[in-house]
Amino acid sequence: MGIIITIDGPAGAGKSTVAGELAKRLGFHYINTGDLYRYITYCALKEKLNVNNSQTMQKLSFEIVEKYLQGYCNNATNLVSHLKSITDKIHSPEVDKKVSFVAEHSSVRKNLIPLQRLLAKNNSVVMEGRDIGTVIIPYADLKFFITADEHTRIMRRYLEQLEKGYKISFAEVKKEIINRDHIDSKRKTAPLIKPDGAILVDTSNKTVDEVITEMLDWVKSIKRDRYGNNKS
Ligand code: C5P
Repeated sequence: MGIIITIDGPAGAGKSTVAGELAKRLGFHYINTGDLYRYITYCALKEKLNVNNSQTMQKLSFEIVEKYLQGYCNNATNLVSHLKSITDKIHSPEVDKKVSFVAEHSSVRKNLIPLQRLLAKNNSVVMEGRDIGTVIIPYADLKFFITADEHTRIMRRYLEQLEKGYKISFAEVKKEIINRDHIDSKRKTAPLIKPDGAILVDTSNKTVDEVITEMLDWVKSIKRDRYGNNKS
């Protein structure tokens, strides 16, 4: 059985950067579950659907999940590689603004559960999101809760969007991040909280390398527990 590492935390905390790097160093699969919600949002916006209508979003998410659950049987990397190929589209400011409204619908969340669990099955994975350690894989081998102070998180996201060439102000990014955090942590179903037993990592004043070193030390400790020796 593979090793499952979950990473939850708010927007701009650095989850994707450290999750991707950690997975690379460990040779694990990296799964960004935010991209699933982003993809549904992107499809909804493209089809001019109302993201606040739970029935519409339930239907759309069901169709997407069905398509990929079937595709998954033929090609396990189908979905992950498709999402990677459209990363710019699903990480646009338009999707940023709407994604938390889509993720708030309990029916959408429910539809995505089997797909996320399937992606973690039989593989060693680093899986990131908002409810991975609490709802999706509460039995994970190791759980992290990654955060940073609000200003740092907003500044990171602002610089990221400028680098991508979007003409967006700091104030707009601030509003979007605060709004998204509010919806994500206050929603009724699977709100963003620190999972029980999760290790808290504050990335505010740390380099990516420092964070990765800290996380790798924790990984070593679970490998020692699991294998009863010093396997690194
Ligand atoms: O991680 P990222 O910021 O790309 O996630 C985008 C949005 O998707 C989050 O703000 C949240 O609304 C939603 N999400 C979620 N549960 C997850 C992953 C993401 O609700 N496990």
